[in-house]
Amino acid sequence: MKIVLLGAPGSGKGTQAARITAEFGIPAISTGDMLRENMRKGTELGLKAKAFMDGGNLVPDDIILEMVGERLKQPDCANGFLFDGFPRTIPQAEALEKVAALDCALLLDVPDKFIEERMTGRRVCPKCGRTYHVTNIPPKVAGICDDCGTELAQRDDDRPETVRARLRVYHDQTEPLVDFYKGRGILKVVDGRQELDVAAAEISALLRSLK
Ligand code: AMP
Repeated sequence: MKIVLLGAPGSGKGTQAARITAEFGIPAISTGDMLRENMRKGTELGLKAKAFMDGGNLVPDDIILEMVGERLKQPDCANGFLFDGFPRTIPQAEALEKVAALDCALLLDVPDKFIEERMTGRRVCPKCGRTYHVTNIPPKVAGICDDCGTELAQRDDDRPETVRARLRVYHDQTEPLVDFYKGRGILKVVDGRQELDVAAAEISALLRSLK
């Protein structure tokens, strides 16, 4: 099964991606996570990407496409994949369709107002990567990771001014993909404001019907 998840930053793609991959046995590939990993390791790619990411802008297509091309060669992609956060531009989508026939482009639809609340409340464990939300998914002890006891942090790109910039970028550059995939007849839309479990059940049923 070859799937791309579409939706504004903060629409819940990462959370749903983890559930889908657990159920369908395909890898979840988050280009955002790959870029952050490169930044942590201080690779050349990470250094190039950092300035774009910190400003809430997209990393240029050529950098992303090279990184994704390498990832798709890994053996775990043989039975399919789920992309979270890729493609984000029409040129990225055009490049992807040259190398893979997608089964589904799944849009998690969430209005901007909800996104702003969700993202600015998001906290992440810098050590193990687990994510929380100050009100929706709080840790047992405020500000501390349940799993490893590390102090939680806010990602630079979850700060309010950056969130608004990222939403503008989403509407300008990524939202056109909705029509792109509608035109290809593979777009499915799920209301991302629903409870996580409800949205996950809807997505699961929808994907099982495609198999
Ligand atoms: P994410 O974790 O998916 O929200 O991505 C975080 C940041 O990484 C984005 O704001 C972009 O700067 C960058 N990024 C991730 N995926 C892509 C992509 N497919 N194209 C361009 N930039 C990306």
